[in-house]
Amino acid sequence: MRSIDLDQNATTPLDPAVLDAMRPFWLAGGNPESRHSLGRASRRGLERSREVVARVLGASPAEVVFTSGGTEANNLAVFGLATGAIVASPIEHPAVSGPVERLKTRGAYVTRPDVDREGVADLAAFANAIDPDTSLATLMLANNETGAIQPVARLAAIAESLGVPVHTDAVQAVGRIPVHFHELGVATLAASAHKFHGPAGVGFLLVRSGVSLPPALFGGGQQRGQRPGTPPVALIVGMATALELWQADSSARMARWQALRDRLESGLSRQFVVVRHGPHAEESRLPQTLNLGFPGLDGDALLMQLDLAGVSVSLGSACSSGATTASPTLLAMGVPDDQLRSSVRFSLGAFTTEEEIDEVIRRVGAIVGRIATGRPIRT
Ligand code: PLP
Repeated sequence: MRSIDLDQNATTPLDPAVLDAMRPFWLAGGNPESRHSLGRASRRGLERSREVVARVLGASPAEVVFTSGGTEANNLAVFGLATGAIVASPIEHPAVSGPVERLKTRGAYVTRPDVDREGVADLAAFANAIDPDTSLATLMLANNETGAIQPVARLAAIAESLGVPVHTDAVQAVGRIPVHFHELGVATLAASAHKFHGPAGVGFLLVRSGVSLPPALFGGGQQRGQRPGTPPVALIVGMATALELWQADSSARMARWQALRDRLESGLSRQFVVVRHGPHAEESRLPQTLNLGFPGLDGDALLMQLDLAGVSVSLGSACSSGATTASPTLLAMGVPDDQLRSSVRFSLGAFTTEEEIDEVIRRVGAIVGRIATGRPIRT
């Protein structure tokens, strides 16, 4: 039985072309800080990658800080920018809400303005929450669970005009939709390579020129002291290659994703009653994410049966230490309890095929038919 990965918001498989681009840098060695020719070759790979990231993201090379991934990039931004009160959306990933909660324990006043029922931030509530003590507003660009694209540019226009820097966690957006740093108007933006078929363990933070961001680490002074440590050049080259591959194929990739995502939803909704969690307007949705509730079904049972059937998906609720906890995103959207427990996230990657989608529809159909209580099945 062929396994099918529809859990690609968790991570994506490496593109073989990315591996080919990384291999020579891994094998050659050479510290980019060294002045000999080996070091200079490594440095060229590093700086060329910086230019690629800047070009694809609409930033300038000096604004790119390479990190170990999305978690580090978000931590760097939140701890670096927040000097007082924080306004953070209630649907942030733990990579943002974790540092925010940490600052709260140290006395920071934190406000979490509502999202609407589709999981999109309420701009008026955000603007109202900003006051003279606010030192940071943070709103992710696309939500990892529902795929809801957030009005980050409009928030930045409001907050930055009041002198409040905006950070956006764009980890789920980069490589899925076009992202332009300067057009968003934010102070900082975080991204991570393993979400767009690059390697895990590398990402970046874009820091708008003129924004002062104290470093979190101190050491050898690499990356102008902003993020010291010997840069993993092969990983960085791989990340830049993955971004170039995305950019060369982005329109076709998005159209393909949208068609596959909709084929999946209509194939499932022909057989069962399903409830989509997330926005309806196409411009507010990631093209490759679909979060569906199967009323009356136990999501845990569905996930496990799908796993046995070779299909990887994830739940809208997280299981930790044996207890299933509701997703903060779905809770913030006001999703009722039974749907919280029955919601499943399907997320597609660049190599997902129509045949795989049809096979998933078939396998889900067989499983739900077996475990359903009867109510959700269409006759
Ligand atoms: N932010 C979002 C929205 C994510 O989905 C993730 C990963 O799941 C992260 C941040 C963390 O990124 P990384 O795994 O590179 O640390």
